[in-house]
Amino acid sequence: MKNVPELFGSMVFNEEVMRQRLPREVFSSLKKTMEEGKEIDPSIADVVANAMKDWAIEKGATHYTHWFQPLSGTPAEKHDSFITPAPGGKVVMEFSGKCLIKGEPDASSFPSGGLRATFEARGYTTWDPASSAFVKDGTLYIPTAFCSYTGEALDTKTPLLRSMDTLSTQGLRILRLFGDTTSKRLTTTVGAEQEYFIIDREIYRLRKDLIYTGRTLFGAPAPKGQELEDHYFGPLNTRISAFMAELDEELWKLGVLSKTKHNEAAPAQHELAPIYATTNMAVDQNLLIMTYMKRIAEKHGLVCLLHEKPYEGVSGSGKHNNWSVGTDTGKNLLKPGKTPAENKQFLLMLAAVIKAVDEYQDLLRVSVASAGNDHRLGGNEAPPAIVSMFIGDELQAVVDSIVNGTAFKGARAGKMNLGIPTVPTFNRDTSDRNRTSPFAFTGNKFEFRMLGAAQNIAMPNIVLNTAVAESFRQFADILEAAPDFDKALTKLIKDTFTAHHRILFNGNGYSAEWEKEAERRGLSNLKTAVDAFGTLTAQKHVDLFTAHGVMSEVEMRSREEIMFENYAKIINIEANTMIDMASRDILPAVTAYAGEIATAAAAKRAVLPTVDITAESDTVEKLSTLTGKAYTVIAELREAGAAARRRAAGKEMATAFRDHVIPLMRTLRELVDTMESLTATNRWPVPSYGDMMFRI
Ligand code: ADP
Ligand code: MG
Repeated sequence: MKNVPELFGSMVFNEEVMRQRLPREVFSSLKKTMEEGKEIDPSIADVVANAMKDWAIEKGATHYTHWFQPLSGTPAEKHDSFITPAPGGKVVMEFSGKCLIKGEPDASSFPSGGLRATFEARGYTTWDPASSAFVKDGTLYIPTAFCSYTGEALDTKTPLLRSMDTLSTQGLRILRLFGDTTSKRLTTTVGAEQEYFIIDREIYRLRKDLIYTGRTLFGAPAPKGQELEDHYFGPLNTRISAFMAELDEELWKLGVLSKTKHNEAAPAQHELAPIYATTNMAVDQNLLIMTYMKRIAEKHGLVCLLHEKPYEGVSGSGKHNNWSVGTDTGKNLLKPGKTPAENKQFLLMLAAVIKAVDEYQDLLRVSVASAGNDHRLGGNEAPPAIVSMFIGDELQAVVDSIVNGTAFKGARAGKMNLGIPTVPTFNRDTSDRNRTSPFAFTGNKFEFRMLGAAQNIAMPNIVLNTAVAESFRQFADILEAAPDFDKALTKLIKDTFTAHHRILFNGNGYSAEWEKEAERRGLSNLKTAVDAFGTLTAQKHVDLFTAHGVMSEVEMRSREEIMFENYAKIINIEANTMIDMASRDILPAVTAYAGEIATAAAAKRAVLPTVDITAESDTVEKLSTLTGKAYTVIAELREAGAAARRRAAGKEMATAFRDHVIPLMRTLRELVDTMESLTATNRWPVPSYGDMMFRI
């Protein structure tokens, strides 16, 4: 039997451990830093470092690492042992406050998006005391921020922490106006639901496309997909169940509140949802979740695919970013209460988010843009590339009544009675869900659903925090200056709802009509990642981020550059992988197979000159036509790839890949998938869609 409460957080240097191991003054000083975002007192660093080291050694650690999130998208670590030479040819284990606070990894091989030209290779990592250190694989992991020699952020954590700060500062101004004198800090909380696919490792190893790109570049549909809807919430298969059990256990040890697990819509697709945490912790924990999904899967002879679209024709994988704002005193500011229509503070919070989402739609869009996510957004299982908001029937009615100046007629919530005496009645929610909305209010939080499964969730939260902080700033400016607070408040709520009403949409976000309607409303529709990237540095966005001290213009330009570059690199690798698979594995196999049939047909004719060989000659003809066409397309694809690579790095190159390389990849795929459907199962050189999705 497992003692989960004992297991939970056992590898984390958490508050309880700190309380036990640190002198009282040191502990309270550190706690202040963690809770109120106060600067760390350097004089306590040595004491904290020493306690951390002693604790880590007891947990089996010999090394420590600063753990940071460079713009490559994957967390980075460099392990140093605690050993220090001691007299007599011996060593002692040491860890100083200086080493805890600051590290100096060579930054030259991390993407910097042009920043490298203006800064030295030197980079610094600095401890984020608000996110807990932990021990994993004999190493003490210290969550850190990462910046350049000249102080520009080279990571995702730095701007995230800055965005949390500005939201707190501006939000507190509002709370003070409502008479809250006790809250010291506002924090945003995030719960990120993570989708993923599992595949058998032996099958995975036979697919170069999965190995090099994380998704299948070829593959005829299996006879069965997800149309029976029999996988969603279905019973867990025993191998998957064992994998999930171990995953939970390892995550619990690291203090990750892994809560829910279930089968998702597509065959072999699953989801894990943790209980929410403070945003910077939630980001770190989501990275741990992704890392552990991969490594625990390996231990079970499986591979975890986090790509947004591993398979054509079935649902892709996303991430739902549940987001809310609360006070350090434990109040959730997005809780509408029983009578939202009369809850002015809540209505103002709602107005702040509606305004933020409407004004910064493009920023939200760019925060989820990637080559992988292009396969989902606008596809029919994911929200469209258009950002809109769903707030539910009740709140929509409240907003409408305020905008129109009409009376609000109450909600339709009430008791749910199923008419079965033994089943208890329960309160129904006041509104149903809308799965098609990219940004939905779900009771006491907003759920941003456009995120891709593989992405770091920092950027969407940086955007959300900063955009909402800007709403708060403008609101506070108006309300602080108002002679009559109540009157000004009522007017502000009405004005804001009226100005941003267009972003609210309760209908079917997947429909073609919505695209037209959204255009009529003037909402933006950045269809591909390449369209979206370039809007990051629009003047309006530079103004927002610089005004709040979240990112400098230079930092933003570097990020935009990296997104374009990354996109081009990904498509280039995909095209190269297709060329390799098609010309070296698939065409040779198909040619050999057609040859076999031809030989067989000739042999039949030799014994029986009038025998029917329609099937053989037809198949040979079809396959030969297809291989001939594919041969030509492969040459064109090579050419288009080379031409794209010759373009100026950045937007031009990314655009060339999107417009000239991707269409040829599609054509090649169609030809190859048709060949697959005509070729004997045992002659096809790679595992089929059926093998990948149904053989676990
Ligand atoms: P739903 O059924 O609407 O998806 P759940 O209650 O299952 O809602 O929650 C989904 C995710 O939202 C979970 O990760 C949960 O921890 C998170 N969540 C709940 N409340 C909050 C909150 N106040 N802030 C951020 N995330 C939250
Ligand atoms: Mg959800």
